[in-house]
Amino acid sequence: MNSPIPRFTYAGVKDAHISVHPFTTEDGLGLSLTRFHRADCDDVVLVIHGLTLSSDMFIMPEHRNLVTHLLDEGFTDVWALDFRMSNRFTYNLETHRFTLDHCARYDHPAAMAELRRHIGDRRVHVIAHCLGSVTFMMSLYGGVVNDIASVVCNSVALTPRVPRWSRYKLAYGPALSEYVLGLSFLDPRFGDAPVLTRGWMLSRVTSLFHNECDVRPCHMLSFMWGSGKPALYGHHNLDDATHRRIADLCGGVGVHYYRHVHKMVKAGRAVKYDRSDRSMAVLPDDYLAYAADVRTPVLLLTGDRNKVFADSNIVCHSVLDDAAPGLHELDMLPGYGHMDPFLGKNAHVDVFPKIADFLKRKAA
Ligand SMILES: [Zn+2]
Repeated sequence: MNSPIPRFTYAGVKDAHISVHPFTTEDGLGLSLTRFHRADCDDVVLVIHGLTLSSDMFIMPEHRNLVTHLLDEGFTDVWALDFRMSNRFTYNLETHRFTLDHCARYDHPAAMAELRRHIGDRRVHVIAHCLGSVTFMMSLYGGVVNDIASVVCNSVALTPRVPRWSRYKLAYGPALSEYVLGLSFLDPRFGDAPVLTRGWMLSRVTSLFHNECDVRPCHMLSFMWGSGKPALYGHHNLDDATHRRIADLCGGVGVHYYRHVHKMVKAGRAVKYDRSDRSMAVLPDDYLAYAADVRTPVLLLTGDRNKVFADSNIVCHSVLDDAAPGLHELDMLPGYGHMDPFLGKNAHVDVFPKIADFLKRKAA
């Protein structure tokens, strides 16, 4: 799709020295951190994208983005992670059997090690979205990441819950996709595939059920995620440029991740995918088992129109508050859905100040 905004652009962040820091996970993947640095400060912020997104979701040039907002608010050393779920890498589009445990076990600990190599023992605050939030919280509550000053989780954290239609998609989607359609990943760009290929047909059939707009990738994303038209955001919250380039921001995704999310939805909490996998023995089978031991304050954010993870974060706040009374916070975002708290054209007015306020209170 033609877009006036180039892909993977840093044009949205002004007046910062930008540097990219590659690192390698213990299971052999190359990942990266991008640093937006104006000056050293006591409170470093790390932002973590969701599945099929990337660090680009925090540096979009078409609106005032989160990284710029944080830099202007005095958090002058901001880092953005691209882990194995990032569309800046090819990992989602390869045949793979990664689960959320892999991200928790390998990606976040390696990212923190690389970050600490540069910033030493300064405080680190984390802002995470979607399965970036789930997997980072799995690392933190699983004990493989420590020394975090605060965490902001958008949409979902350790108690994934989804609408009824999504439960069916999670339950049957991976098998249908892999065994019937022969597709190991789903791509919002299937509409651009050659005529009568499987991807093209899936996109056309999907669009038959979506007449809410004329952007085929938007329809595919609603098919891939959640339950709504559209499912991931409110159209009214997006800049038109964002809507038109949504496939630049949300890439293809391997369907195996859905199996782990489904397992968690059935369990009502974050659980390990395969308890017999010895390579994951360092992680707990139940990621909430030691919730009372974690003293990092968490701000759970959710739009009140969340059609992907529904009331997950309301429930998570209740669960975490039972484990550590008074430590954690919940904030609702009126009029927002799953992804628009970061991608929305007015997020800098409606959402980012809430995040900055929380970080400042936890910075002392
Ligand atoms: Zn749309």
